[in-house]
Amino acid sequence: MDFKIARGQKQCSVCSRPFADKEKYFVGLIPRTGEEGTFDRNDFCDACWTRQGPGALVAFWPNEYSTQKRPALLDPDLLWQVFHKARAAGEADMPKFAYVAALGLMRLKKLKLKATKREGKKEVLVFEIPGAKAKERTQYEILNPALDEKGVLDVQDRLGDMA
Ligand SMILES: [Zn+2]
Repeated sequence: MDFKIARGQKQCSVCSRPFADKEKYFVGLIPRTGEEGTFDRNDFCDACWTRQGPGALVAFWPNEYSTQKRPALLDPDLLWQVFHKARAAGEADMPKFAYVAALGLMRLKKLKLKATKREGKKEVLVFEIPGAKAKERTQYEILNPALDEKGVLDVQDRLGDMA
């Protein structure tokens, strides 16, 4: 699978208006036809988002434009992309990436742990975007891959390579 992450375009994908530093906007992923696990990224300014809503997007998240480059674990935009791509990919290594990205997003207060549940011998974590409006409040279920500390650090190191 191609795990390269397309970065934002620094402007609204619909009206082409450039984002200001710290401007809030939405990012959405649209599946690319005929290429499983591949997405095109679209950035929506607030006005365009309000007009069009989630529509055909498979995943979306609220974002804040920043002119600063941040390390992977402190960059919610990068963590969201890893999170959604890893969930969609369903390959052997991917649940670990979704899990570690979710922990990073939780640390940055972009996701909140709502519940944990058992599925057989496995633990599933249920996350939600805190403070989202009802129509934007999505729950995500992530399998706990039961990584030890070294396993988490190992995945964290590889997150950085995806930027
Ligand atoms: Zn726009």
